[in-house]
Amino acid sequence: MIVILKSGSSKEAIAEVIQEVEKLGYTPHPIFGELQTVVAAIGDERTHHTLESLTVLPQVERVLPVQKRFKLVSRESRSADTVVDVDGIKIGGSGFAIMAGPCSVESEEQLIATAKAVKAAGATILRGGAFKPRTSPYEFQGLGREGLKLLAYAKQQTGLKIITEVLSERDVETVAGTADILQIGARNAQNFQLLIECARSRKPVLLKRGMSQRIEEWLLSAEYILSNGNPNVLLCERGIRTFETYTRNTLDLGAVAIAKKESHLPVVVDPSQGCGRADLVKVLSRGAVAVGADALLIEVHPNPAEALSDGQQQIDFNVFSQLVAELEPILTATQRERV
Ligand code: PEP
Ligand code: MN
Repeated sequence: MIVILKSGSSKEAIAEVIQEVEKLGYTPHPIFGELQTVVAAIGDERTHHTLESLTVLPQVERVLPVQKRFKLVSRESRSADTVVDVDGIKIGGSGFAIMAGPCSVESEEQLIATAKAVKAAGATILRGGAFKPRTSPYEFQGLGREGLKLLAYAKQQTGLKIITEVLSERDVETVAGTADILQIGARNAQNFQLLIECARSRKPVLLKRGMSQRIEEWLLSAEYILSNGNPNVLLCERGIRTFETYTRNTLDLGAVAIAKKESHLPVVVDPSQGCGRADLVKVLSRGAVAVGADALLIEVHPNPAEALSDGQQQIDFNVFSQLVAELEPILTATQRERV
């Protein structure tokens, strides 16, 4: 960390800062300028006490961190792309995957029809919420365990892998019994106990970005999972809340490019929650792939107008197969292979 002192600080004031830096476990290296003095504090900021508290001293102007707060998720700790193996489907590196299915599992008929259609179009992983995080307690909350059974049945019928959301710590074991990927929703992105419990399951985890999470905070959430022994994390950009009203959320494709630079983890884009509009899902999917996404998570429903949740953003089978076909030239241009 760098401690910047106010100009004109006395020798005693500078000495006091040097002493405090030492007390907190760092080696101080003062640099005396003509007007201002700065103290470079050498030591590992991730294991030592933060020096930010020194700003309470009247002679300290600012304290600047040098190191990043995340370690295991950073490109510095691993330069090669991480490839997450979802029961044989290898996402990341050159491998690009499509996960698709309904927002919520509603019935056997709805789920099996969707699973067959998305598989025929090119998806290899079936999505579908059994436990649903709804803003209102009066809205459809999902089929719960019954939904998990239907997902297991769909897997058996089609061979598709399963991604489904786990809402609470107490359901991790149950959901992990069916899911090949545990989805952590935007509303739980900083539920650290849930992150730790999912880490312990050792299953691949798809971590949605919280709707008002900064990129650094999102990566720190991922750090919780890696530092608890589970390296199989897929980051997922799903739009953030902004002042814009044309869309439900603002899909932040810039964050995808940044996450790919800062981290070795695969990045997934969810254009469905990302904009909340069925008419934009195709074009945003193309943008996501062009910007470097390693997978897409897309809501598909046999009849979106009758969906029990998120009907406005779900696409039908026809649009989904067009979407997949339209990705092909971009995948070829970016040397990605569908897995
Ligand atoms: C979903 O995928 O249906 C969902 C609820 O996602 P999010 O957590 O991103 O809102
Ligand atoms: Mn949804």
